[in-house]
Amino acid sequence: MTKDQWGALQSQLSSTIGENNYKTWIEPMEFHGVEPGGVAVFNVPTNFIGTYVSQNFGDILLAKLSGMDTDVRRLKFQVANADTRPAPAQQQPRPATQAQPAPAAAAPANSDLLPGAPLDGRFTFDSFVVGKPNELAHAAAKRVAEGGQVTFNPLFLYGGVGLGKTHLMHAIAWDLRNNRPDLNVLYLSAEQFMYRFVQALRERRMMDFKELFRSVDVLMVDDVQFIAGKDSTQEEFFHTFNALVDQNKQIIISADRAPDEIKDLENRIRSRLQSGLVVDLHPTDYELRLGILQSKVQNYREQYPALQLDDGILEFLAHRISTNVRVLEGALTRLFAFASLVGQPITMELTQDCLADVLRASDRKISIEEIQRKVAEHYHIRLSDLIGPKRVRNFARPRQVAMYLCKQLTARSLPEIGRRFGGRDHTTVMHGVKRIEELRTQDSQIADDVELLRRALEA
Ligand code: ADP
Ligand code: MG
Repeated sequence: MTKDQWGALQSQLSSTIGENNYKTWIEPMEFHGVEPGGVAVFNVPTNFIGTYVSQNFGDILLAKLSGMDTDVRRLKFQVANADTRPAPAQQQPRPATQAQPAPAAAAPANSDLLPGAPLDGRFTFDSFVVGKPNELAHAAAKRVAEGGQVTFNPLFLYGGVGLGKTHLMHAIAWDLRNNRPDLNVLYLSAEQFMYRFVQALRERRMMDFKELFRSVDVLMVDDVQFIAGKDSTQEEFFHTFNALVDQNKQIIISADRAPDEIKDLENRIRSRLQSGLVVDLHPTDYELRLGILQSKVQNYREQYPALQLDDGILEFLAHRISTNVRVLEGALTRLFAFASLVGQPITMELTQDCLADVLRASDRKISIEEIQRKVAEHYHIRLSDLIGPKRVRNFARPRQVAMYLCKQLTARSLPEIGRRFGGRDHTTVMHGVKRIEELRTQDSQIADDVELLRRALEA
């Protein structure tokens, strides 16, 4: 990979990620060279740009680079002027160096069977925000991370994309390294497991492979759904799994769904996976999202003490971006990057402007009709009574719940919601929304109803 090749790649990138993104993020980077081990190094003006590029364009960049230069397997961003001499081989990020951009998803090295995947220095228990949706998974992860007696085997963590499975797994690995340096902890994705397996077959090193995997004390396999339908990999995984369980070695697995929902998985594997503790990470709720945003902002404040953030911005984001934590984080990163580049305080206006596309994309296409229908169904009342003029409690409360959900889940204004509820005034809607907000904290039945309905609507 030469600087000329990088030049050629740059113009390709510009059309892939768009002129604006290109100008803001890629152009300021300088290609530094490829280090031993296939690490493509870039000089960046700030850590911030490095982190942003790694998070947002890391995959594209890596794919393009490795298309041109098959030796490239990993990216590294370093702040220019700091040290532009060719650096030694890639260092593993440690929890202490949290500000360091993490290497983008690393492709497995094929020179050796040494199988561990790098751990992301930011994914620790300290940086994991606990809320109702993830408290069980967090507690189970914490327990395993102590490295005491193996009580549940395997620990199976599952949940939708971006809900913190990988974060928790890395956190366990970091803690185990500290608490039990004597243990041989191995973390890798199911994809990497397959890759090693195929490689071992090809290089006729199956004995090495088996020995290696059977000698670990703690095996962590991320995104195990990946092996579904890949028969010989499944088979080998099954044997590895059994050998370790027989030796009373801890196994930790993650997947994007529950064991019995993974298609094309052999039954014996399925039942093996279910034989320990299965815990799920639920979709985030508003409080958790707000908590995560607050904790991220705190980190930024340490880096950028001058940061000015208007009140209400985080609430707004927690409200509007409910897809997953990764998107939420990305939005915040972009917002801060933008604000610090243009040197402006973060106002609501700037936020809406800077995040217009994200906000639009995560605008759940839930309609007022849909909400009304679901609420009426839930409370076993007729739609016409929900919307109609009758003010008896049996109708009025569900109506308020429906108004509340309309406010929460759609981008409709209060007057507009009022119109769709039989031409009511916006102050009536506001009152209804406030009422449910209060009741949610006092009346667990209402809180459950709202939560249930919200989930059903967002599903
Ligand atoms: P998954 O593996 O479930 O797809 P990740 O673990 O990669 O999700 O999480 C996506 C991003 O969201 C990561 O940057 C992670 O740090 C962040 N994240 C997820 N849950 C939390 C949480 N509870 N507290 C702090 N950060 C979180
Ligand atoms: Mg993951």
